Amino acid sequence: MPRKKITQGSSAKDAKAFIKHLNSDYPDYGFIAGKQDHWSPRNKTINFNQGQTLTNLQYAVLHELAHALLRHDNYQTDFELLKLESEAWQLAAQIGKNYNVSISQDHIQNCLDTYRDWLHRRSACPSCGMHVLQQSPKIYKCFNCQAQWHVSSGRFVRPYRKTINK
Ligand SMILES: [Zn+2]
Ligand SMILES: [Zn+2]
Repeated sequence: MPRKKITQGSSAKDAKAFIKHLNSDYPDYGFIAGKQDHWSPRNKTINFNQGQTLTNLQYAVLHELAHALLRHDNYQTDFELLKLESEAWQLAAQIGKNYNVSISQDHIQNCLDTYRDWLHRRSACPSCGMHVLQQSPKIYKCFNCQAQWHVSSGRFVRPYRKTINK
């Protein structure tokens, strides 16, 4: 797996060619180099971190493109987010085949694991430790001890902006 930063030599060229190719195949979306990987439903742009390895960049851009194609523009619960993430990775892996980018199931499961860990932490009742389902976008309620707790609206690195209550 190439470990060079894409700002160096041929990888930068490869990344550019890859983005250009995608852009001509998916002209409905803007592909914008920046600092973070995310899909913006409002602007119809796929933003990507250009300071990562070519492989990671390709994975990330394909993943965000998949969110776009699947019309993922909001989610209500953490659990739903996990589902959307999984769907986006499966589609990204499919699209990747057309560009000689193979996204392994290992990589996908690793990414999803970070979401699972996060969800696991958020869903733990602070008073009794029971893991419970989310009540609403910002509230968890424990069926065991009736405790309620609020969660912030998003994950540290969000795949796209959450647009609830609009
Ligand atoms: Zn509890
Ligand atoms: Zn995502």
